[in-house]
Amino acid sequence: MTTKQRYERTRAELDEVCRSCGRDPGEVVLVAVSKTVGPEDVALAVQGGATDFGENRPDQLMLKADQFTTQNWHFIGNIQSRRIRDIVGRASLVHSLFEERHARKISEIAAEHGIVQDVLLEVNVSGEESKSGLSPDKVKRMLETCAELPNIRVRGLMTMAPQGDAQVARQTFAGLRALRDELAADLPAERAALFTELSMGMSEDWREAVAEGATIVRIGRAIFSSTFE
Ligand SMILES: *Cc1c(COP(=O)(O)O)cnc(C)c1O
Repeated sequence: MTTKQRYERTRAELDEVCRSCGRDPGEVVLVAVSKTVGPEDVALAVQGGATDFGENRPDQLMLKADQFTTQNWHFIGNIQSRRIRDIVGRASLVHSLFEERHARKISEIAAEHGIVQDVLLEVNVSGEESKSGLSPDKVKRMLETCAELPNIRVRGLMTMAPQGDAQVARQTFAGLRALRDELAADLPAERAALFTELSMGMSEDWREAVAEGATIVRIGRAIFSSTFE
């Protein structure tokens, strides 16, 4: 199979899973995580219909986003203060914000560009030590901090589930959804209307994530790796 075919197969299966859980396929964005491949493979995925790509390194984001300007680029990696300037504006959505100081800097730089940067707050739902993100009880506070920053807009939440157990993954995703719903209920209506996204699910667990309400899935290997089963 080629990258184009793997992209088409993944999108078709995603549409199928949406329908089987009573969801409209148009509600779920497929982010093709291209962090392990070069621009040639991005081009092949575009041929298959890909509109959204994810990168976890600023250098790769810059290289590819500046080449594929009609696609949407998502930053899904660890945020470093000194690289924020390379991310803001280039990324249509930053998925991995969890530090206040980074929120302030993103808003500052977005203001210089005269834009509002859309972000998601990364939440460590499972509590695994190896995972980054806010603990669920800290998200409300962070949301309040971000509400004070004029050039950042929090569009929802992101999480990564523990690997290897579909049931545990599903519980993690259900936890993120419950947290979003709980937080949205406390927001003024116009902010709640924008706080809707759930970025959750990767190659191995995106089906569980869609069943639990994911609006964005981030899929790398199932699209870009010839060895992924
Ligand atoms: C690499 C990565 C993905 C994609 O993972 P796959 O298992 O290759 O689908 C999704 N989200 C984040 C944050 C990643 O770093």
